[in-house]
Amino acid sequence: VPELPEVETTRRSLAPVLEGARIAEVLVERPRMVRRQVNPEDFARRLVGQRIASVGRLGKFLLTELGNGMIWVTHLGMSGRISLVDHTAPVVKHSNVIVALVGGTDFRFVDPRTFGFVAVFTPEELAESSLGRLGRDALTDLPTSRELAAMLAGRQASMKALLLDQSLLAGIGNIYADESLHRASISPLRAGGSLDRAEVVRLRRAIVMTLQNALRWGGTSLDDLAYLLPDGRAGDYMGRLRVYGREGERCRRCGREIVRSVVRGRSSFWCPQCQG
Ligand SMILES: [Zn+2]
Repeated sequence: VPELPEVETTRRSLAPVLEGARIAEVLVERPRMVRRQVNPEDFARRLVGQRIASVGRLGKFLLTELGNGMIWVTHLGMSGRISLVDHTAPVVKHSNVIVALVGGTDFRFVDPRTFGFVAVFTPEELAESSLGRLGRDALTDLPTSRELAAMLAGRQASMKALLLDQSLLAGIGNIYADESLHRASISPLRAGGSLDRAEVVRLRRAIVMTLQNALRWGGTSLDDLAYLLPDGRAGDYMGRLRVYGREGERCRRCGREIVRSVVRGRSSFWCPQCQG
């Protein structure tokens, strides 16, 4: 599942190509991808002819601002990726939505499982959508440790569940929650309210380091290669993961075997020694 580092890596690749470009044509091959819109025609009508002002991001959502003030939202879902190619390039399977730019470049949304979506919203529609309930961005708007401590105070929920809660911090998913908790030496099972001040400081620093490192390597492409950069390259962070997906392998810090626990229906990988 693409998380903040993958979406931000995608954004950084898209921005220089999209910003300032005008949209020539929109092709919706899978109407399910525009299910948040009244109908596929409405999505196309809101895009065609518009100039792209900026490509932004909040959590796992790409927010592309258009000249008419509307916001083109892209969510990669479980298995989505964006491919930037020449209009004449062969169309690969599952290219569900194609946005053609004046000048000959295509933005192609490839998503085999169709859990992702695209939509063009007015600022009011955006505020009323589920995006209006997103918390602060974990990279660009990370709360201070004092603020983070206040957010966690009294919480009975596990740290893993709290880090996945997009209304608290936006952008962290299963991979980077596990990686941040290992770096901070905090068990995913700990109740949020049980963290002391030093642990909150450590957690905040671990989130920063984890996201920055993942970004440096272009994010994580797992073995399925569902996530790729817009130019087709794989993200290179998988070989550097500390715990995620490493059940039974040795902790890089202490040598103990990494274990997997199911927390709220999600796999959590952690070291019982370092995160005891
Ligand atoms: Zn360890």
